[in-house]
Amino acid sequence: MSEPGTPANPLRVAIVGSGPAGFYAAEALLGAAAATQVDMFERLAAPFGLVRSGVAPDHPKLKQAIQVYQQIALSPGFRFLGNVTVGRDIAVGELLNCYHAVLFACGAQTDRPLGVPGEYLPGSHAATEFVGWYNGHPDYRDVEFDLSHDTAMVIGQGNVAMDVCRILAKTADELRHTDIAAHALEVLAESRVREIYLVGRRGPAQVKFTHPELRELGDLADCDPVVDPRDLVLNPASRQELANRANRAAIKSYEVLQAFAARTARPRRRRCHIVFLRSPIELIGDGRLQRVLLMQNRLVGEAGHQTAEAAGGIEQIDCGLLFRSIGYRGVAIPGVPFDDRRGVIPNRDGRVMDGASVVPGLYVSGWIKRGPTGIIGTNREDSVLTVEALLADLPRLDVRPRPGTDGALALLRTRGVRVVDFADWREIDAAEIRHGQAAGKPREKFTRLTEMLDAIGN
Ligand code: NAP
Repeated sequence: MSEPGTPANPLRVAIVGSGPAGFYAAEALLGAAAATQVDMFERLAAPFGLVRSGVAPDHPKLKQAIQVYQQIALSPGFRFLGNVTVGRDIAVGELLNCYHAVLFACGAQTDRPLGVPGEYLPGSHAATEFVGWYNGHPDYRDVEFDLSHDTAMVIGQGNVAMDVCRILAKTADELRHTDIAAHALEVLAESRVREIYLVGRRGPAQVKFTHPELRELGDLADCDPVVDPRDLVLNPASRQELANRANRAAIKSYEVLQAFAARTARPRRRRCHIVFLRSPIELIGDGRLQRVLLMQNRLVGEAGHQTAEAAGGIEQIDCGLLFRSIGYRGVAIPGVPFDDRRGVIPNRDGRVMDGASVVPGLYVSGWIKRGPTGIIGTNREDSVLTVEALLADLPRLDVRPRPGTDGALALLRTRGVRVVDFADWREIDAAEIRHGQAAGKPREKFTRLTEMLDAIGN
């Protein structure tokens, strides 16, 4: 039997996950071998992963990537199998019987824990929950956020923390014409939050959010950014970091922070305090969050490798709402090796590893491969590299012809799984866009599976 990739024996690959890494892997596969069939499995009925349910509603330009993914989805050789959970509805071993290779591009679905007492008190939430909630992700449809408190705190200074902060800081009118979920807009419109703390464990030279996002915080309708100029005094190693022209992004962010510190306070209903060198050491409350104890830090180590170390001083901030935004984490899939410490599938150049051995036929790309870093486009290069590894392995893979979609669908049918294909999704998509029009929004997302299924065939 010849290598797969011929009309008699098409290369059949299952991709698990329909976010950027999955679509870029599909694009690379479909462009590489003449006879290739790519089936993309997605646990939700809607594709596009974090581009749909992670990117902030007020950043529509970032969602334009969806247009590229739609083109890929319409390529011959591509099938979308939505509403299928791999590891539950179909086992990884069963996929390997149906496909020559399985490529996991399922991202990082959960959050990293802070590891401090009181972390899970009511009122303390993972940023991932809030992001999913305002973006209409069905898993978070019924999470309740109590925005009746005066003070909210966001722990972490990456772009997710910045998104959370901005959504808390914006007025309902600033969000009304975005694709924010209606249930979230309703709650945010009644928000009584006035003071928002954006708390970083390291200094102003080490922030992870990027300067365009930071700058946006200075242009909000009813919120003023607050930076204490004393917090911008740098230690010698941080000065050295910012003197390095290769650190352009950090230099620009520092300049924006300086501009915020120099501003005269404007009369605004809300303020966003950007504070540095602070780590939460305890969340306190009687039955729900009431106060946060913050430890003051100092930076230790060489330029470029500085870490935060407790410096001794402790302060207390009254606060009823807290978001932990210190990074995402991947979730293990039954039957696939998992590195629990890093929250990724262990791999070498995209080949899944079990200890020192390569697991034949299993590949990985995106956040579940390298951890939760980079922008949408970072996943293209990452997926191309994984697909190169997969194609290079073809001579060594089990080359017998596989049943592909027919085999997988037969199994799913016996288990009563209602598979949502791309034509179904396009009907859901059209219905969402229609519903949004009435409210002047680009779309009104369905937030429950039943609503999505009801939209098919109407
Ligand atoms: P991130 O960029 O890695 O930021 C995580 C933040 O959490 C950092 O400030 C980090 O500080 C802090 N942190 C980590 N562990 C901590 C701890 N134990 N205690 C206190 N703070 C801690 O992660 P992210 O914000 O989740 O974003 C994930 C990726 O998505 C990033 O690449 C991001 O750029 C991207 N993204 C982009 C956009 C956009 O383009 N607009 C929007 C959202 C997300 P240290 O630096 O000290 O570790």
